[in-house]
Amino acid sequence: MTVSTDCDVLVVGGGIAGLSLAAELAARLEGSNPRGPSGSVVLVEAEPTLGYHTSSRSARQLIPSYGPPVIQDLTLRTLALIRAAEAHLSEPILAPRSFLLIGDEESVRDRASSHMHPVMQAEALGLAPELKPEAFSAAGLDTTSVACNTDALLEYHRARLTGAGGRIVMGERVEAARLTGEPGSGQWEVMTPGLRFEAPVVVNAAGAWADTLAGIFGARPLGLTPYRRTAAVVDVERPLEDGAPMVADAADRFYYRREGRQVLISPSEREASVAEDSRPRDEDVQALVELVNSVTTMGITGVARAWTGLRTEAPDGLPVVGWDPAVSGFFWLAGQGGYGFQTSSAIAELAAGILLAAGAENDAREALSPARTGV
Ligand SMILES: Cc1cc2nc3c(=O)[nH]c(=O)nc-3n(C[C@H](O)[C@H](O)[C@H](O)COP(=O)(O)OP(=O)(O)OC[C@H]3O[C@@H](n4cnc5c(N)ncnc54)[C@H](O)[C@@H]3O)c2cc1C
Repeated sequence: MTVSTDCDVLVVGGGIAGLSLAAELAARLEGSNPRGPSGSVVLVEAEPTLGYHTSSRSARQLIPSYGPPVIQDLTLRTLALIRAAEAHLSEPILAPRSFLLIGDEESVRDRASSHMHPVMQAEALGLAPELKPEAFSAAGLDTTSVACNTDALLEYHRARLTGAGGRIVMGERVEAARLTGEPGSGQWEVMTPGLRFEAPVVVNAAGAWADTLAGIFGARPLGLTPYRRTAAVVDVERPLEDGAPMVADAADRFYYRREGRQVLISPSEREASVAEDSRPRDEDVQALVELVNSVTTMGITGVARAWTGLRTEAPDGLPVVGWDPAVSGFFWLAGQGGYGFQTSSAIAELAAGILLAAGAENDAREALSPARTGV
C-alpha cells in the first residue's frame, strides 16, 4: 500500500552528504516548525542501510592540505565543527595521523600549501622507515591531518537527525517526481515503489546518481562523473608503527596507511564509471601490491579485503551546493569527489544556511553554486 509522507524538506541519499545536512536542518528546525518537529525533515535512502555506497568505502583521512583553497577552508571548518561535536560524545571521532607526501621536487612543490611544509628525505624516512630511499627525492608533511572514524561520524549525524524529530526511510529508491501547484509555492510529489512523499523542497544528495536524480526532477544534469577508486587492507611482514603517517605518492600512483597490524593501500586510480555498486578488480589489486612492495619494505603477504567506491566530480572538480537555477524547490548537494568527509560538516552548515535563507554570502557559496560557470 502506498503511504503518503508530508514534510518540509525531503533529502534523497543517506551517505555522509545527505545525512549531515538532514541532521543540521532538523536541529535548526526543531522547535521552530509550526507543524511540530515530526516530519519536518525526512531522509530517503534506496539501500537498506545508511552509507552503503561511497560513504562506507573511504580511506577515513581528513587532510587540510588536500584540494584547492575553497576545499581547504571547508576542511578546516569541518574539523572545527567535528571537534565541537566531540565535546558531547563519549568517544572521539578524530585521532591524530599526519599526512606525508612523497615524490620528486616538482610534484611535491606543486602540492605545497600553508598546511604542508617540506621535509628533508632523512626526516621523511624517520617518520616512514618502511620507505625505500630510492623511491622518492622530496617530501612534504601535513601535521594537521587526522584519521576520522567515519562510522562514528555517520552515527553522530543519524542520532542528531532522529533526536531532533527527523525521519529516515531506508530501502526506498526515488523513481518519479512531479511538481504540483505554482512554481515557487508548489509541492513536490515524490514516488518510490512503496511510498509517496510531499515536500516543497527536495535535496539531491544522491552521490553517483545525482545527475540521474536531477533528470527525474526535470533538472539539467551537471555532467557529474563517478570515478572508480579502489582500496585494500593487506597483511604485512613488518607492521607500521603506531603513530605512522599516511603516505601518498605525489604522482598519484598509490597511498597507504596503518590499519592496526595491517595496512590500507590504494592505487589512487581515477577511472570514469557508470553509477553502480562498483567492485574491485583482482588484477588492479595485484598490480598495486607489487608496486607498494617495490617502494617499501613492509612486505605485503596477502590481501585481507578489497573494495571500490565512486568519487563523483563536477567538470571543475568542486562540489555543487545550492538551488537549481531553473527548477523550483530542487537543491543540489553533490560532486564531493574525494573530499566528501573532510568537507561534510562545513558543507552541511553552508547548505542549511542557503536552504533556510539564514546563511551569510561567502566565497564558498559562490564557488560551489550550481549556477557557476564550469558546470
Ligand atoms: C577509496 C575511496 C577513498 C576515499 N577517501 C576519502 C577520505 O579519506 N576522506 C574524504 O573526505 N573522502 C574520501 N573519499 C570520498 C568520500 O567517501 C565521498 O566524497 C563521500 O562518501 C560521498 O558521499 P555522498 O553522500 O555524496 O555519496 P554516497 O555515500 O554514495 O551516498 C549517496 C546515496 O544516495 C543514494 N541514492 C542514490 N540515488 C537514490 C534514489 N533515487 N533514491 C534514494 N536514494 C538514492 C545511494 O544509495 C547512496 O547511498 C573516498 C572515496 C573513495 C572511493
